[in-house]
Amino acid sequence: MTRKLVVVGAGMVAQRLVEALRSRDLEGRWHITVLGEEPRRPYDRVALTSYFSARDPEELALGDASLWDDPLVTLRKDDAVVGLDREARTVTTARGRVERYDHLVLATGSSAWVPPVQGADLPGVFVYRTLDDVAALRGYVEELRTTRPVVRGAVLGGGLLGLEAAGALRALGAQATVLQVGTHLMSTQIDLGGGEALRRLVNDLGIGVRLDARTTRVRPHRRGGVGRLDLADGARVDADVVVIAAGVRPRDELARAADLKIGERGGVVVDDACRTSDPHVSAIGEVACIQGACLGLVAPGYAMAEVAADRLLGGAALFPGADTATKLKLAGVDVASFGDAFAQTPGALEVVWADPVAGVYKKLVMSDDARTLLGGVLVGDASAYASLRPQLGRELPGDPSAFLLPEGGGGAAELELPDDASVCSCNNVTAGTIRAAVTEHGCTDVGAVKTCTRAGTSCGSCLPLVKKLVGTELTKQGIAVSTALCEHFALSRAQLYDAILVAGTQSFTDVVARFGTDPAARGCDICRPAIASILATTAPAHVLDGERAALQDTNDHVMANLQKDGSYSVVPRMPGGEVTPEGLITVGEIARDYGLYTKVTGGQRIDMFGARLDQLPQIWKRLVDAGFESGHAYGKSLRTVKSCVGSTWCRFGVQDSVGLAVMLELRYRGLRSPHKIKLGVSGCARECAEARGKDVGVIATDKGWNLYVGGNGGFTPRHARLLAEDLDTETLVRTIDRFLLYYVRTADRLQRTAPWVDEVEGGLDGVRAVVLEDSLGICADLDAQMAQHVASYEDEWAATLADPDKLRRFDSFVNAPETPDPSLAYTPERGQARPATPDEVAAARRGEPVLVAGTTLEVRS
Ligand SMILES: Cc1cc2nc3c(=O)[nH]c(=O)nc-3n(C[C@H](O)[C@H](O)[C@H](O)COP(=O)(O)OP(=O)(O)OC[C@H]3O[C@@H](n4cnc5c(N)ncnc54)[C@H](O)[C@@H]3O)c2cc1C
Ligand code: SF4
Repeated sequence: MTRKLVVVGAGMVAQRLVEALRSRDLEGRWHITVLGEEPRRPYDRVALTSYFSARDPEELALGDASLWDDPLVTLRKDDAVVGLDREARTVTTARGRVERYDHLVLATGSSAWVPPVQGADLPGVFVYRTLDDVAALRGYVEELRTTRPVVRGAVLGGGLLGLEAAGALRALGAQATVLQVGTHLMSTQIDLGGGEALRRLVNDLGIGVRLDARTTRVRPHRRGGVGRLDLADGARVDADVVVIAAGVRPRDELARAADLKIGERGGVVVDDACRTSDPHVSAIGEVACIQGACLGLVAPGYAMAEVAADRLLGGAALFPGADTATKLKLAGVDVASFGDAFAQTPGALEVVWADPVAGVYKKLVMSDDARTLLGGVLVGDASAYASLRPQLGRELPGDPSAFLLPEGGGGAAELELPDDASVCSCNNVTAGTIRAAVTEHGCTDVGAVKTCTRAGTSCGSCLPLVKKLVGTELTKQGIAVSTALCEHFALSRAQLYDAILVAGTQSFTDVVARFGTDPAARGCDICRPAIASILATTAPAHVLDGERAALQDTNDHVMANLQKDGSYSVVPRMPGGEVTPEGLITVGEIARDYGLYTKVTGGQRIDMFGARLDQLPQIWKRLVDAGFESGHAYGKSLRTVKSCVGSTWCRFGVQDSVGLAVMLELRYRGLRSPHKIKLGVSGCARECAEARGKDVGVIATDKGWNLYVGGNGGFTPRHARLLAEDLDTETLVRTIDRFLLYYVRTADRLQRTAPWVDEVEGGLDGVRAVVLEDSLGICADLDAQMAQHVASYEDEWAATLADPDKLRRFDSFVNAPETPDPSLAYTPERGQARPATPDEVAAARRGEPVLVAGTTLEVRS
């Protein structure tokens, strides 16, 4: 006989319970009724912040929608359970429905805790828990932005959620200041050292932070809504919108009213089988107080759902204990904490590595013999998180400090994970399960492994490790590792490039329709800019033309480089580093008139920092009128050709390095590529232009030019290697043409020339054979394509200035085109203006003597 299971709450953990039960209850022993108070089916609360970019609640929906069409499953939305009668074994909903149960599962989660602060109920104060909460917050901020040039946001709480909310406020175009009651950010997960590094990183995103800041009162604005916060130390913080992210409280009200056992700090007490004090009632997820605590993470909730499902079918599963590892989801700030992060295990040793300049703090907590990993904190660079966390409780091979140093610096041993190591803690998936997905279930790519095992389908922080495990396993099986560009294209970037070239496809929509896995897909952050870059060389058009504008990365979008304070930098091209006195005067006058900070770059040109979005067209108008053009400092494209003065001036020079550099820069300007490209030309072997540090380096010889390829600076510096010697100028240029286009056509996205030369078929010898001996028979094509590039080049900025449609994207505020962004503030330093730090801005607002100039007041020495 079918028994009746009622689940109260239609959240993440309820969804997992229903999935688990339906997949195992093959005889249909249970009919499940899920009663949810929210007006939608369960959705991914962990990914709530992505609602601001997706804007479609459906995109957050969890699992396969067909689950709810199962005849043994009923979902009732938008109807809260208001009463529980344990004697009668019934629950009553707000709409008056009475449901009888044989077994009841409480999965009511938590609600946001609002501290008892006067004014916390004013319009403009929000919590951050449900889709309706974030939709209301977005609507409020957008509405404010139509009437106020700047919206000041404050977030009460500097934990995981508070920082995520602050990032969301910034994304909505509001200012954000985080008010943290304790001594440092994320104090539940990371130590003081990590907290300090995190504060700097958060400041760098333009988010202010106030520590030891307890709000005592929220005061109204004279025009309605909130206007100000009063702090316990007497300070005040102006705020037009307030987000409370001060913690959560379990939704145990039904259980309390029905006299179920409640934990000391709330939550429905359950045993390791997830049973409450009533054998007919279980509790799972955030509402459950298990092993003495309510756990505010989804991974232990999912583990409880699995236990409950097993028990309902007569199994003996027990809660395995909680993995409380966490990773912050704030774009641009990498933070992870796992295991015994505070070194509370007796005798625990802490191994710390910090680079305050780079904003990195890393700590491993080791057992007293420094061998077994007990926990860790990673701030600023959490790349090691995915591979270190599964090693918890295990011996690390080699010196622990090697795992903390930047990549390549420590010589850390490769971690071979044992089968029982947990890789995805959200879904409790081990390394062995992932390997088995490849070896036993025939999965041949990460997407298939995700579907098969659920690994990486929740917070996603384990995906790099899943990818690595899958790649290793496929290689062991002799199966080619998938090189698919992303889930929307089964082709690699190189294959897609060829397909687009041959088919002559002109737009992203057509590319998806012809070559995508789903012809109606809208693409993702991986394939959209990659295809924009491919189309730029196969079907050249202005970077902001029609659909192409929407494909571009942030910088290309406005043809300027976004800086940390939200302003932009302007870099006109100065081919070969050459500039006339008149050109210098123009640049100087512009910088003076707009109060821009100027700096000579490593690429031998002048960068002007601090321009507002709405100023970019005015600045470029003056530059273009003076004969300058875009320097493409924002693009994945040719940046500069650096040169020494060469034989024209130098006593040692044997060739005209400046003349060649200017010619090369004008030839390759605007060439879009998988990554940025830099060239260098030196007039003799003394190499003053450091040409061998460039993607393409040319060094003059008595007989002509030596050509080097595959060099770069950056994180992993590489010297370029010799491709050909003593070339005459014509052969040199033709060889560079072919080298660059062969790279543009075949490299992976974001792959620089150095790794590409290593990985392309035949390595450097293979490249040599292709570009000098035409071993693939493509040189005529490459030559023709470069000729087309040179002939079709147009200055992007000049073209933009001539097009009112394109100019519209430079309005500072969509609703107030004339109003500059007043959130920009500067302070003088060494005779120029630099961005004021959030602390300086806050101090200036408090009336302290800090010289901060807004956008209407230029700063001059
Ligand atoms: C913005 C945000 C980011 C997060 N990020 C992470 C993260 O990175 N990693 C992580 O592990 N966790 C994260 N979490 C926490 C994670 O979302 C929760 O741990 C998880 O959702 C808990 O699932 P649950 O089913 O127990 O509760 P919930 O998902 O809250 O679901 C409970 C549901 O029950 C409903 N309900 C309550 N009472 C009743 C009633 N009487 N009748 C009917 N329905 C009722 C509620 O309306 C709700 O829909 C985040 C949470 C938020 C808000
Ligand atoms: S590289 Fe040679 S030619 Fe160029 S500046 Fe140095 S010494 Fe002179």
